[in-house]
Amino acid sequence: MTLIDCPDGADFEFGILIQKKNIFILENGRLPNGSEVSKVLKKYNDSDILGSYGEQAYRTFAAALSPEAAEPDGLKRIPYRSLFITEPAEYAAVVARAALLLDWLHHTKYCSSCGSRLHLSVSETALECPQCRRIWYPVLAPCIIVLISNGEQILLARHVQHTSDIYTCIAGFIEAGESVEEAVAREIREEVGLTVKDIRYRGSQGWPYPNQLMLAFRAEYVSGDITVQKEELSEAAWFTRDALPPIPLPGSAAHRLICGDWY
Ligand SMILES: [Zn+2]
Repeated sequence: MTLIDCPDGADFEFGILIQKKNIFILENGRLPNGSEVSKVLKKYNDSDILGSYGEQAYRTFAAALSPEAAEPDGLKRIPYRSLFITEPAEYAAVVARAALLLDWLHHTKYCSSCGSRLHLSVSETALECPQCRRIWYPVLAPCIIVLISNGEQILLARHVQHTSDIYTCIAGFIEAGESVEEAVAREIREEVGLTVKDIRYRGSQGWPYPNQLMLAFRAEYVSGDITVQKEELSEAAWFTRDALPPIPLPGSAAHRLICGDWY
């Protein structure tokens, strides 16, 4: 699969136009096509457009507007997360992929080894250095998210950076050299001071904020009293499913774990 520079997205079924964490869709809720997005882009200066590409394999023409650019006329702005949780589900993969790739392209213009301007690879989804020939791939950040059970109870926590009352699962980035199971056990130990057993993989999800790959697990409580890591969590407690606090919206890995889709 390759990305191509294309000034005009006329040949593409999906036209993805994003700005910050939003996407612009048609009034009827569908994605515009490539030529509709190209028409919109013609009204902007180059400095308003952070980047764009076409990709045949995903039938996608994608572009990102700078945060300062005015919103386009005739299209409706919604958080792109909404397209992960609503029908048609076919949009989830193309939107998540485009959001990740546009962010990556915007932040990966020069070779970190020799400083040359990078070009799109003609053979794979990557950037290539014309000077030292090094290949730069899109960067994924693998993360674990885990639901801990103790009999009928599940452990949920409130994060310090969340201003809302949302309670969710324990989560964190996988450290260099760690296995995913080791990351699960470590995050639980660090964030709530518990030990667990029976760590079981339940599913995964691309999560382009900007580039996480969420790997979802369940684990069984073994021992310890809840001791929250103050830098990360404001509170953690055991809940039963018939008396849950506010939880993340449907479609997220956390919701699937908590509500049993990934039981
Ligand atoms: Zn180079």
